[in-house]
Amino acid sequence: MPELAYVNGKTTLVDEAVVSIEDRGFQFADGIYEVARSHDGKLVDLDRHLARFERSARMLDLPLPMPLPELERTCREFYRQTELPEVILYLQLTRGAARRQHAAPSGLRPTLVLTSRAVTKPTPPRFSAITVPNNRWKMCACKSIALLPTVLAKHAAAKAGADEAIFVGDDGLVLEGASDNIFAVKSGVLFTPAADGRILEGITRGRILELAPKHGYRTIVGPLPLDFAREADELFITSSVLTVVPIVRLDGRPVGDGQPGPVSLAMVKAYWDFILEVTGAD
Ligand code: PMP
Repeated sequence: MPELAYVNGKTTLVDEAVVSIEDRGFQFADGIYEVARSHDGKLVDLDRHLARFERSARMLDLPLPMPLPELERTCREFYRQTELPEVILYLQLTRGAARRQHAAPSGLRPTLVLTSRAVTKPTPPRFSAITVPNNRWKMCACKSIALLPTVLAKHAAAKAGADEAIFVGDDGLVLEGASDNIFAVKSGVLFTPAADGRILEGITRGRILELAPKHGYRTIVGPLPLDFAREADELFITSSVLTVVPIVRLDGRPVGDGQPGPVSLAMVKAYWDFILEVTGAD
């Protein structure tokens, strides 16, 4: 089955899907998105992704076009039509289409778009990263479609020959990757920044915070200074798309001994065991 798109109730091939040029997503990035992944024909943590979608919508005073349980049914039915075992399910909601003016008129019909794209790349075994200044807005807990700082950060990483960019605040605190969360490991303890509005509260980050103690690792959620991260034994990033990936170089210097470390690899295994567990069920 080819990759599909859904726009306000209509399912077509991705190439045939259209939205208006007056859509406020196109004009103002006035909208939100969510990204979930399927493994072996099952959408993983869809409920958590949709709960975050609802929180993002609320932060922008954006009404959901349908109640959450109906949205979940819509996603599952859409995914079922795709018939692909490994996809990235993308959801986008904008305030709708209207004559261009900054303040939105009331009564707009929101635009809900879903796409289901096959996962084309295998999970990378390791990444290199650079740090970049955090030039984003103050509502990073909201998964807004306004992603220009992310685009530029990824561009800088690619230009530097690195795989990912890590945002660092003016206060010297490491925040998160351009599209993932970050963990540092020191003496067997996992450190990750708090979800205090300066980062997106990743679903995979949450899973790692639940799984780590079950595998005997202590976790500390709090400030992660760049100097500490540079001296860490290990670094790794997490996202639904990438899962768990060790960072072996930061700004051109090796992290630890420059190889994926034992704790990162234990977390890679723990997360993939969790995926097996949830995809094997039902
Ligand atoms: N931070 C940012 C900025 C992201 O874009 C993502 C990807 N959605 C993440 C973290 C990781 O989130 P998740 O684990 O829910 O995919």
